[in-house]
Amino acid sequence: MYNVLDKFRYSKDDPSQLNISLKKDPYEKVNNNNSNNLNQLLSTSVKVSKEIFPNINSAIDKVFERLEIKNNLNFFVTANHFQTQASCSAMPLGDSAEIILTSKLIELLNDQELQSVIAHEVAHFYYQHALYPQASSSKNRTQILNLLNFSRAAEISADRIGFIGCGSLEASLRAMLKITSGLDEKHLKFNFSSYLNQLRELKEIKGDKNLMYSTHPNFLNRMQALIWFSMSNEYNDHFDTGKKGTFNLKAVDDKIYDSIKKVIGDEVDYSNKEVVSRALMWGSIDVFLSDKKFSKKEQEIFKKNFGDKSTESILSLIKISNPKSIHEKIKNTFEEASKLLNKDKEKIVNELTKLLKIVDGEKKIAEKVIKKIKTNLKI
Ligand SMILES: [Zn+2]
Repeated sequence: MYNVLDKFRYSKDDPSQLNISLKKDPYEKVNNNNSNNLNQLLSTSVKVSKEIFPNINSAIDKVFERLEIKNNLNFFVTANHFQTQASCSAMPLGDSAEIILTSKLIELLNDQELQSVIAHEVAHFYYQHALYPQASSSKNRTQILNLLNFSRAAEISADRIGFIGCGSLEASLRAMLKITSGLDEKHLKFNFSSYLNQLRELKEIKGDKNLMYSTHPNFLNRMQALIWFSMSNEYNDHFDTGKKGTFNLKAVDDKIYDSIKKVIGDEVDYSNKEVVSRALMWGSIDVFLSDKKFSKKEQEIFKKNFGDKSTESILSLIKISNPKSIHEKIKNTFEEASKLLNKDKEKIVNELTKLLKIVDGEKKIAEKVIKKIKTNLKI
């Protein structure tokens, strides 16, 4: 089935880049009776029904109508006057998904704004974001940074569906502002371009590097991402808005990625590049040394790829170290590289495979090295 959720997912939110297995169908039930969560909710929160919460119930119906997917989720309202939030607790392996709305959220938002939040949470369920590995469960820096990048991308996807699910750009932006500030229209002016000035200011002072460790993009980035999405050819075509788009969706996605980077800094890209280049260097050594010899010809190629300085230091390192410690180094390098996204790992393997054409020793042995590298990279 191909629907708006499949069509408009943010391209950087691509789970094929992670080594995880998702359910083929988000509605698929998994035989794991993990209903503790549901039990607890049933005893502490009020389940949304037509009879008890007619407005919320009809907001939910409208969302599923617009998204054209079926609703087998349970919605709850929980008393919380401090936090303006909704959460989707689709249990990673459970057989039910619950979406919890706080009382403060309901009080703050009008019907259409509430729809955007509901659709946002439904998107988390549909995209199975709960199955993405949590950055907080990792101790490896490369993995943490990449997973956080992913988590932020997941929010951009969900925001888009929030917008589509409520049918109004303005309502989605208003909901974001209300949720961020905790204030309602009595206090807020919805002049969106002046909020984007705040984003410009933030970029000018070179962003806020702490955001690199945040699971959500800054609300200004999120608002801008949504505005750009509404200007895409694909969005305007699909919904027959009568307007012509300004960008294609691919360009929008790239703009969003760059804009977030301007705020959080490009440390993640930079760090990934470094891990890739270290893997290429030590991978080359691994391939070239597969016959236990680093021939003159191989050294020349190495020099061409990695420069005189690296070649010199590697050569002297090989001279003074025993093979075991060299292998240890190689192993650690690939352990780190195994935490990269799959596209980076594929790049490493492709580059190293090219070396097979030029190795001096026996090809079969060098091929085995490439195979081992693939295993270590977990691809
Ligand atoms: Zn979210």
